[in-house]
Amino acid sequence: MNILKKVWVLAEKQAALGQLCAGGRQLGEEVSAILWGEKEEADQAIRMGADKVYRLGVPRPENLKEDYVETIQKLLQEEKPDALFVQPTKRGKLIAGRLAAGLGTSALVDAVEILTDGDKVQIQHMVYGGAAFRTERIQPQTAIVTIGTGVFTPLAEDSGRQGTVIEVEFVEPAVKIKLLEKKSKASAEVNLNAAKRVVGVGRGLVQQEDLGMVEELACLLEAEVGCSRPIAEGMNWLPKERYIGVSGAMLKPDLYLALGISGQVQHMVGVNQAKVIVAINKDKAAPIFSQADYGIVGDFYKVLPSLIEKFKAEH
Ligand SMILES: Cc1cc2nc3c(=O)[nH]c(=O)nc-3n(C[C@H](O)[C@H](O)[C@H](O)COP(=O)(O)OP(=O)(O)OC[C@H]3O[C@@H](n4cnc5c(N)ncnc54)[C@H](O)[C@@H]3O)c2cc1C
Repeated sequence: MNILKKVWVLAEKQAALGQLCAGGRQLGEEVSAILWGEKEEADQAIRMGADKVYRLGVPRPENLKEDYVETIQKLLQEEKPDALFVQPTKRGKLIAGRLAAGLGTSALVDAVEILTDGDKVQIQHMVYGGAAFRTERIQPQTAIVTIGTGVFTPLAEDSGRQGTVIEVEFVEPAVKIKLLEKKSKASAEVNLNAAKRVVGVGRGLVQQEDLGMVEELACLLEAEVGCSRPIAEGMNWLPKERYIGVSGAMLKPDLYLALGISGQVQHMVGVNQAKVIVAINKDKAAPIFSQADYGIVGDFYKVLPSLIEKFKAEH
């Protein structure tokens, strides 16, 4: 498409950076990444699709990444990219908002699709819990857009790609944020987006202990376990990082196997880009069957043991 001249991306994690660079390449002539880290990470960004990398370096112990807003703002004012795509971590959203305020523009949030109208950036994002889409545009300034995982597919790293790394000088912020305390999170890190196969479990699960058979099947399929929101928020049987949908993870796996999930729109928007959806549900009228490629009408407590046996026999 290459409608935009300059697309900039800002991400804290390399995986997200790869996806945003791929999006930048789809829409823009030149992609620049702003990143914290060592030179090696800057080189990797180039291999992932950036033409230029503005390297902010490794923050000094007395500085937080949030203290770089003025530094980034200065770059945006000087270079005037058409769009800045930001990974929507808590910090990313905060930085996007502050940059928008500093530049006198707005931030467009949670884009699930980037569209263009002439040389203007438009985004679509979900409203009413995923039941509808809204299209938004800002002009004529740099469009600051937060884009979640799964919207763009990262390109394969190309070790032959050439690019420029620009070392950026830190602009001391007028007001700093003071870090009071740092605690590690109890739950294990999970990256559902990296999984090629995902087994999702929903309220059909009767008790937490029964997750064992779901995990066993997932292991045989070399899949990650995901879930619907009530399983993670409410029941608290799985960590929040594992729930899929409009307010959780948005995925594009090769296979999504849904167990005891009704298929409400808020859940399905997180998986409807899976290559193959298989559903097991005891209610033949469950909405998930209208989106599934394959379906088994049945009690998954009865179906799973035979599936597990079958896959074990094939291993
Ligand atoms: C603003 C908003 C945002 C939301 N965001 C999300 C989100 O991001 N992700 C999300 O998942 N939800 C989200 N929800 C909640 C969503 O609307 C649904 O309530 C939720 O997805 C339902 O989860 P479920 O399918 O597991 O449960 P249910 O809808 O209760 O479905 C359970 C299904 O299991 C089947 N079942 C029961 N026992 C068995 C068995 N033994 N074998 C086979 N099948 C069985 C039943 O037939 C039923 O279809 C959101 C809601 C709102 C309002």
